[in-house]
Amino acid sequence: MRNVSGLQCWALQSGIPGHPLSDTTSLDTVHRLQLSLADSQWWTPRRLREHQFESLGRVAEHAWRTVPYYRTRLEAAGIRPGGVIDPERWAALPILTRREVQELSTALHSDRVPRGHGQVVSNASSGSTGMPVSVLGTTYDALICKAQTLRFHLWHEYDFERKYATIRYLPEGGATYPEGLHSQRWGDTATYPFRTGPACLLNPEASADRQLEWLRRQEPDYLMTYPSLLRSLLIESEAAGVGAPRLLKVLCTGESLPEDLPGHCQEIWGAQVIDLYSAMEVDQIAAQCPEHGNYHVQSERLLVEVLDDDGRPCRPGETGRVVVTPLFNYAMPLLRYELGDYAEVGEACACGRGLPVLRRIRGRVRNTLVTPDGRRHWPSFGTMGFRKIAPVIQSQFVQVARDRIECRLVVARPLSPAEETALLAQVSARLPWPFDLAVAYMDTLPRDAGGKFEDFRSELAT
Ligand SMILES: [Zn+2]
Repeated sequence: MRNVSGLQCWALQSGIPGHPLSDTTSLDTVHRLQLSLADSQWWTPRRLREHQFESLGRVAEHAWRTVPYYRTRLEAAGIRPGGVIDPERWAALPILTRREVQELSTALHSDRVPRGHGQVVSNASSGSTGMPVSVLGTTYDALICKAQTLRFHLWHEYDFERKYATIRYLPEGGATYPEGLHSQRWGDTATYPFRTGPACLLNPEASADRQLEWLRRQEPDYLMTYPSLLRSLLIESEAAGVGAPRLLKVLCTGESLPEDLPGHCQEIWGAQVIDLYSAMEVDQIAAQCPEHGNYHVQSERLLVEVLDDDGRPCRPGETGRVVVTPLFNYAMPLLRYELGDYAEVGEACACGRGLPVLRRIRGRVRNTLVTPDGRRHWPSFGTMGFRKIAPVIQSQFVQVARDRIECRLVVARPLSPAEETALLAQVSARLPWPFDLAVAYMDTLPRDAGGKFEDFRSELAT
């Protein structure tokens, strides 16, 4: 074979498009993917980049041929089948917004998904922005993602014989308190192609004290949940003076991770928090490094660009908008799709992995506080300390005007004026501007349709 590039090696080993699979779900495929990912994480940034641009060329060509909407866009950027695709041409391709994906919908579907990619599957977003989005994928792309999930567990030295608990919302219902749902293994054999220990799952419709009771009864070694659920469990745990014996690691996903949460988890439960950055439309995006805490972009499967306000790539230390291109979604190509998140670019990681680094995931545009002088911030409000001041059960902060923030509180009993003043003083001390603060007492603070919760939301964001 001549001129075998990095991409082709990876493709030939793993059955990447262009080399269609005869059976996309065989355990053999899973093993091959896993071996490829174990190798490609150590590729140099240059080799990874080559892999990405060759894959981009293929998915762009597929989009040009099978999704008429893209043809004009690609041609305007100078991208045609058989032509060269380079960073300059790629940067000329317009950004695809969430609103466009929502409005175009089926116009972004490929009319010829290659057979080797397996079945076409559909994912609908929770619609937490009020704009639900439906995205198609393939079982082949999902398989690569599953292999990355296993790599992530290997990075963090999970012992697969131990017990795994998950607390997350299930759109289909079930797994309710007091029992939840139990299984003999952690997940499907595509993700874990070997025997594993038992797993249990709880749908967190019950109150935090009941969730904690369930968790303590299950005695898991590992937990996966959303940061907001973890925080309410920790608050409950601290108030009750009980821990979570045996728990070693908590994998957080689904919401941006508040900076103070890992420290509180370590302090109250003695468990390490690991974060996984994902989005419904593209699944896994970046996973925390086992050695340095950086987020390694899962670059074999998707290109991540972080762009400043002028559309230029951010440098290390700069924060910008996250734009993603899944390299193997041939059912509904998303070329330069703006997720609506902000992230900070990091320097190359000292662990030696060539996977690019995001230093911080800042969360959605609507979770960004903008000061009256135009600076962006992602505040933390010291929620974990509220119980020491007053019986606050839940809280949420909403920027309702340029200079005004509403503090929405669910409380166990009415607060005294002194408690309210002390609480507001703590919040104020953490803010980058002397905002007017107003308290609004609420009966409940609902989660979105997908069960996620936002500490902070801006009504100024569009
Ligand atoms: Zn690293």
